[in-house]
Amino acid sequence: MSAVSLSGKQLAAAIRAEVAEAVAEPVKLAVVLASTDEASAWYVRTISTAAAKAGIDCELVDTKPDADEIAATLHRLSADPTVHGVILQSPLPPGLPPAQQLAGAIDPAKDVDGANPLSLGRLASGQPAFAPATAAAVLALLDHHQVELAGRHAVVVGRSTVVGKPVAHLLLDRNATVTVCHSRTKDLAAITSQADVLVVAAGRAGLITGRHVSPGTTVIDVGTNPTEDGRLTGDVDAASVVPAAAGLSPVPGGVGPVTTAVLLRHTLSAACASIGP
Ligand code: NAD
Repeated sequence: MSAVSLSGKQLAAAIRAEVAEAVAEPVKLAVVLASTDEASAWYVRTISTAAAKAGIDCELVDTKPDADEIAATLHRLSADPTVHGVILQSPLPPGLPPAQQLAGAIDPAKDVDGANPLSLGRLASGQPAFAPATAAAVLALLDHHQVELAGRHAVVVGRSTVVGKPVAHLLLDRNATVTVCHSRTKDLAAITSQADVLVVAAGRAGLITGRHVSPGTTVIDVGTNPTEDGRLTGDVDAASVVPAAAGLSPVPGGVGPVTTAVLLRHTLSAACASIGP
């Protein structure tokens, strides 16, 4: 057998089109950037371009790499009625508190990338909250490709608050039986090979190979690892997994474009909630 390619491009385009059609009143997303990191700058440009195409105003707010200034900026944007979504771009420069801690200054109603710990807490306790866009994108991609979740064994590799943990909660909400693996998991392959659905978010190129998957496994590769020649590669060794699995999302072109589109959808939802019915 050969795995079906679970592309995110068509889904991302559909979400972007749906958002563009629904934007009626001015909608604004503010992205706070405290680093000069090249990858962050690239990602922020991607969001900005996608937002502009969907009719959403994207304001880039540069701050000094200073915890007080970042927190004050997030508070100011959260209180600004013309701003509907607020993102703190990570990774932050070294020496600052973790992004999750600083993101506590984002109003949960505008926390469109689910970075405030309150958002994760609400998500975990089944209350309305914005999930991190990447985690929501994983679920959207699985739904788009009609992957059954209820009663199936979903294995998540990675336990970060940005991807692994929220994905696990979203999968639980969909009645999957969820196992979370991480860097201290013993015999990863013994667990991942039992998965019906395998979501990999470890940030380790080539971590998952053919021996980690079974013939029926659907694999979602969240990893984005820069290669020496300037490309991006996932956490999954596609060459050995494609012949072994049922489905595999490509990198690039899988979760990534859906994440950006979901961010716009969340921003529109935040705007609709603040504008009122
Ligand atoms: P992170 O470094 O915060 O967390 C990585 C997790 O993987 C940890 O919980 C760790 O325990 C686990 N891990 C590391 N090595 C492991 C191993 N050998 N075996 C099992 N588990 C292991 O990273 P993150 O922020 O969660 O991101 C994970 C990956 O997803 C990165 O490649 C990142 O670039 C990518 N990412 C992609 C998107 C997107 O939109 N496509 C968005 C966010 C993150």
